[in-house]
Amino acid sequence: MLTVLIGILYLFRFIFGACIFSFLTVVIYRFPKGENLVYGRSHCPGCGRTLSAGELIPCISYLVQGGKCLGCGMKISKQYFLTECLGGIAFILSSAYFGSGESGFLSLRGWIAFIYMGILTVVAFIDWNTKIIYDRFHIAIVLLGIAAVWLFPEHTLTDRLLGAVIISAPMLILSLLIPGAFGGGDIKLMAASGWLLGYRAMIPAIFIGILTGGIYCIWMLARGKMTRKDRFAFGPFLAIGLAAACICGDQMLEWYLSVWQI
Ligand SMILES: [Zn+2]
Repeated sequence: MLTVLIGILYLFRFIFGACIFSFLTVVIYRFPKGENLVYGRSHCPGCGRTLSAGELIPCISYLVQGGKCLGCGMKISKQYFLTECLGGIAFILSSAYFGSGESGFLSLRGWIAFIYMGILTVVAFIDWNTKIIYDRFHIAIVLLGIAAVWLFPEHTLTDRLLGAVIISAPMLILSLLIPGAFGGGDIKLMAASGWLLGYRAMIPAIFIGILTGGIYCIWMLARGKMTRKDRFAFGPFLAIGLAAACICGDQMLEWYLSVWQI
């Protein structure tokens, strides 16, 4: 019985996270176009039809409709579905790792992690679609880091300031030596995130970012879909590394050091 109840609670968490990230899809598509984020009901970009409530159920609507608009049959981007699923997973991970708090739903520490993963998701998809990481998302991460000073006292100020430079400074030097090595948005993302997460988490973050980005590039080069001269958005891969580091970066580093007995 208890297992069933816990299962239902996690299902609720998934749905809640998916609903919140469903709003982020609006940010992902409207923000780069300079459209209003609050006003204007969701509509199909193909036929302009306003979507009914039944078409706005996170994750489910996409699957039921077979990824197509019910009006004009235009294919709906998989990014909507993916973003909503990521929201559900992010909320579950945040509560599993940072506790449910007094509310029994999500602790304040968990909220920091969940909001951060929301920002990372927006950054990743906008960068993927437009190759731009907007400064206001870096600012949002820095503000989240200020709240984290109280909520995560185990990361000292020195730890955070070191985190802000440990990866971003070498990236900046590399881009000065090799123009175009990293985008300014990527460097700022790593600086702001280092301030939020502390320096220990930044090491696994960049490692995972380079590893996943590298695998993607090799895969695309091998299939002839990319040439060596093409620029690709590194932000989504950094975001994968940072999200993993936000949840268990410190533990990953400790595990790595213990394996090598450093
Ligand atoms: Zn349509």
